[in-house]
Amino acid sequence: MTKTSKTPVTILGLGAMGRALASAFCTAGLPTTVWNRTPGTHADLIAAGATSAPSVEKAIRAGGPIITVLLDHASVQETLDPVADRMVGRQLINLTSTAPGEARELAAWAADHAIDYLDGGIMAVPSMIGTPGAAILYSGSRQVFDTHRAILELLAAAEYFGDDAGLASTYDFALLATMYAMFGGFLHGAALMRSVGVSATQFGERAAAWVTAMTQSLPHQGRVIDTADYTDPVQSIAFHKSAIDAIYRASRDAGVSSDFVAPLKNLLDRQVADGHGTLGFERTFEELS
Ligand code: NDP
Repeated sequence: MTKTSKTPVTILGLGAMGRALASAFCTAGLPTTVWNRTPGTHADLIAAGATSAPSVEKAIRAGGPIITVLLDHASVQETLDPVADRMVGRQLINLTSTAPGEARELAAWAADHAIDYLDGGIMAVPSMIGTPGAAILYSGSRQVFDTHRAILELLAAAEYFGDDAGLASTYDFALLATMYAMFGGFLHGAALMRSVGVSATQFGERAAAWVTAMTQSLPHQGRVIDTADYTDPVQSIAFHKSAIDAIYRASRDAGVSSDFVAPLKNLLDRQVADGHGTLGFERTFEELS
């Protein structure tokens, strides 16, 4: 059964993201207990109604789900290990970014201590928390998700993927990998444009429109990859190799590093050399796994 807005929550970690989450809970009127390794950084939250705990042990006494928003896997383990025996029967929601294997490790650690574990990947920056467009992806304990869905929705749209605790972070990292490749391409393009005197600001406006239009093809590309039939391409690998080769030369001529373009060029070169030039660009996927 989904708990109501009177559920007490404990937040461990008051960096930029932890503060945003705690603030959203305070705004919604939830009894919110907060702890941070470095004390004294959250007067604003106290003013908003949060209770500050001087230690992790005291913070988790407040009852309700315990939410960790720490730097990384190691900091979660370091923070919770000393209080593990006082968390028996409790529900832990870890929103710290962890690799899938680390999330599974934490789930196993939690199971060993009879703690119900839900892992989450935050697809938002702190200023987006509590606004439309923010999403948090969850996997692990269905029971924890179902019980606390209403309060999790106060933070961001909440979606549950399954009981494998590593699933949410796999989605998280796959989406971030997509984002970083796009950001890298933008940096490369901005460097190229600077060589002809166009500012990165101007280029950013244009690139946003172009990338938005191009992303419409992603579901189609996904379907092609799933069929593994690359024989009827819109444009072939050989066509794309020719484009990337030209971008490579243009970049070299403009004195722009090939750091972002070279990996794709290598993948395309290899496929053409191996006789796959007539197949579709999506066949590149087969080189990756
Ligand atoms: P910050 O760097 O702002 O804060 C890190 C927090 O972790 C601080 O509260 C810090 O405490 C604490 N911490 C670090 N090491 C330890 C330790 N060994 N023991 C106890 N506490 C420790 O990071 P964010 O708040 O921005 O991010 C928190 C998590 O949220 C990260 O995993 C991040 O990847 C994830 N996230 C963040 C996003 C963002 O845009 N900020 C977006 C999506 C996910 P102290 O104040 O004492 O240093």
